Amino acid sequence: MGLVLSIANQKGGVGKTTTAINLASSLANLRNKILIIDLDYQANATSCMGIDRGSFQKSIFDVFKKEVGFEDILIKSHHRNIDVLPAKTMVEGIEEAIIGDTNRDFILHDHLHKFKENYDYVLIDCPPSLGYITTNALVASDGVIVPVQCEFLAMDGLTQLLNTIRIVQNKKKVNKEDLTIYGVLLTMLDKRVTSGFQIVNEIKTYFKEKVFKTIIPRNITCSNATFYGMPVTQFSPRSKSSISYKKLAKEVVSRNEQG
Ligand code: ADP
Ligand code: MG
Repeated sequence: MGLVLSIANQKGGVGKTTTAINLASSLANLRNKILIIDLDYQANATSCMGIDRGSFQKSIFDVFKKEVGFEDILIKSHHRNIDVLPAKTMVEGIEEAIIGDTNRDFILHDHLHKFKENYDYVLIDCPPSLGYITTNALVASDGVIVPVQCEFLAMDGLTQLLNTIRIVQNKKKVNKEDLTIYGVLLTMLDKRVTSGFQIVNEIKTYFKEKVFKTIIPRNITCSNATFYGMPVTQFSPRSKSSISYKKLAKEVVSRNEQG
């Protein structure tokens, strides 16, 4: 119980936040209890879960600063079965605050250790970088979901991410814990653009069975949902992107059941 999955790729705009919130919403609809941890300074996941940025004082970044614990910042979203540890925008000095800490890579891990037992899935929305915050997310996780946009240069930067994952895997082995690549998710496939399918083949050749069968199509409704600050699964449940995220949730559950 309490499977922790990071949604990570240091490239911006590949669909990390969209995946975090829609997977959360689809897993919650399958009667799972979900915790979303928003680790991005842009706090998009927080606002897309309907949480007004002015409605809370302290955020996950204050946990990194050791000012508060999870209980102090936890917000029950209005979505059934989804709690959020929110991020706040314009927070500065976090990486600097962490850098001097000898336990700096394990801060999130240690807070989550017991807390995750309250949930079926913990989904961590990572920032577009490979700094201490992302390392903390990976160290705290059982698996990583890597969204890859079906566009030119999709593979670019993945080597760096895979290196970071390898480094974290070694760190976790010390505790006899593991970190797997839970799945590679192809996102924003535009069926009209033939090069998109080339990317799909390239990624499948490289990552093989790690690639989720579900591919998320490019769908205007999905970006409209972001504009209105909600998961597309709630904004337009019958849209193509909603249906894909629901399928993805089933795949995630079945991978979990298969161990
Ligand atoms: P990241 O978190 O990796 O930076 P986002 O999830 O914020 O990426 O997505 C970047 C932008 O692309 C957002 O404006 C989002 O609405 C849009 N987007 C994400 N997925 C899709 C999709 N399947 N179809 C169309 N637009 C999408
Ligand atoms: Mg994001």
